[in-house]
Amino acid sequence: MSWVRRMLARQRLALWSALILVLTLVMIGALLMAAMEANLRRKVDEALLLRAQHVGHGITVDQDGTLSPAGVASGLADLAPLDEITAPGIYVQVLDHAGAVLLSSANLPGGGLPLPADLVQQTLAGRQTTTTIPIGRERVRLLGRPVLGEARVLGAVIVGESLHFLDVTLRDLRRLLGLATLLAVLLSLAGGWWLRRQAMRPVADVTRVARDIAATGRFERRIAIPQTQDEIRDLAATFNEMLARLERTFRRQRDFLADASHELRGPLTVIRGNLDLLQMDLPEAERREGAAEATEEVKRMSRLVSDLLFLAAEDAEERLEHQPVPLHELVSAAAERARSLDAGQHAVTIICNDPTLVQGDRDRLGQMLWNLVENALRYTEPGGTVTLGLHNHGPVAELTVADTGVGIPAEHLPHIFERFYRVDRARSHGHGSTGLGLAIVKQVAEAHGGQVRVRSEPGAGATFTVALPITSD
Ligand code: ADP
Repeated sequence: MSWVRRMLARQRLALWSALILVLTLVMIGALLMAAMEANLRRKVDEALLLRAQHVGHGITVDQDGTLSPAGVASGLADLAPLDEITAPGIYVQVLDHAGAVLLSSANLPGGGLPLPADLVQQTLAGRQTTTTIPIGRERVRLLGRPVLGEARVLGAVIVGESLHFLDVTLRDLRRLLGLATLLAVLLSLAGGWWLRRQAMRPVADVTRVARDIAATGRFERRIAIPQTQDEIRDLAATFNEMLARLERTFRRQRDFLADASHELRGPLTVIRGNLDLLQMDLPEAERREGAAEATEEVKRMSRLVSDLLFLAAEDAEERLEHQPVPLHELVSAAAERARSLDAGQHAVTIICNDPTLVQGDRDRLGQMLWNLVENALRYTEPGGTVTLGLHNHGPVAELTVADTGVGIPAEHLPHIFERFYRVDRARSHGHGSTGLGLAIVKQVAEAHGGQVRVRSEPGAGATFTVALPITSD
């Protein structure tokens, strides 16, 4: 029975609209029937009154003012035209003042109309009265009209008409309305079902694609965008956008994970090899060399891991601090640190250091700047120069780190901000590089609403510029 319940739930809208339609049609039908019945009955009553008047006019009154059978009989001649109105289904009866039947129309069965006492009483009391009585399987409408003499009621004319025609008309109308209601309901149910199917098709598509993706993990699937201009189209388009985004994110994560594992495998292999060597009987000098190499690789690994953690935290959109950061202080600190670590191998200078406040995260901005300075020192031969600068241009601060080092060939420039990208793997390895430094620079700059660019020529050094929005606080 659960499929019945499911189907009822699905066709809920169609069922509701069908129900509303039924109620509306039933109400309209009932009103129509009531109006029709009242109208037809009024028509019957009007015809009865005319007939009663007609009969009334045909009656002669005796000189003594009573309606005697003889008087009636003599009047019967004048009643001759009555024959034409005593057609089948139309009855006439004349009563005297005491209620005795003086005359019955020819079509009445013996004994005349079964008149209700109430009608006779009311009419003989001088009031025109109508009522409906059953005769056999028919209903008959009766109208009693008093025959008035001078100040008293002389008798009564009762005319009746079978309501057969009215009842049949109303019954046929009722059947017709019932049939029309049934048809309308069926049509509305079918229409509702069809409309729902049309409207829900894209939603069903979304569901199918979502299920498919859940089962297979294939994020490249897309749903067909319907040609209509409605919410369903928006839903389909939004769903596809979301899928594209998810696909990009998953691909990036997968690539990143593969690259990260690959990068970690290198130092691990070196460390393992060296540890194996250290377990052997080796001259002291070689042992020391092996241990030093392993230590170097451990350093590289820990740098790699901390870079990875840094990027992962940024990926997870870990909340950035939002503090005013004096950028000029970071520039001075970085230059200071470079001088002390570099032990005078390079000339580290600051050409301009405009006091600048940017809104953001001090630690991350410090890391970004240090990555640039570290690269400049790393890729510049001893004796070269590393120059730091901070210039304010209107609402933008430009932070530059320039060196006189090896530079970067043009074909590598578009890629150096990618994760794990290195211009010269063999050479970079010796420097303990991870290939993540510039990816971090780009990510931090963008997280602060800024951007980074590079200008370089092989052999003529490189200049990295980070543009950041200045805060007015
Ligand atoms: P790495 O850890 O290898 O330095 P980065 O992402 O910081 O990784 O840099 C990517 C590549 O860009 C480096 O391998 C290097 O070849 C090149 N590069 C970065 N900075 C400089 C620079 N100042 N001068 C020359 N080459 C650079």
